[in-house]
Amino acid sequence: MATQPSEPDSIRENCADCGGETLHDVRVEIRTESQQTENTKFSREPYRIVVCNACESETATRMNNA
Ligand SMILES: [Zn+2]
Repeated sequence: MATQPSEPDSIRENCADCGGETLHDVRVEIRTESQQTENTKFSREPYRIVVCNACESETATRMNNA
């Protein structure tokens, strides 16, 4: 089994702030969300966090599209 170093992935993606393609760091983060149910319940949702290397703007996208 190959062992991968746990470095953040760098991808080229379009950045709305920069107005073009720039390098972005990608990581996955578990964020806790409060939900309005009868007993206030917290769900932990995985987010894909993309940070532009040029302007440092951060975009969080929820990963489970169920
Ligand atoms: Zn940018």
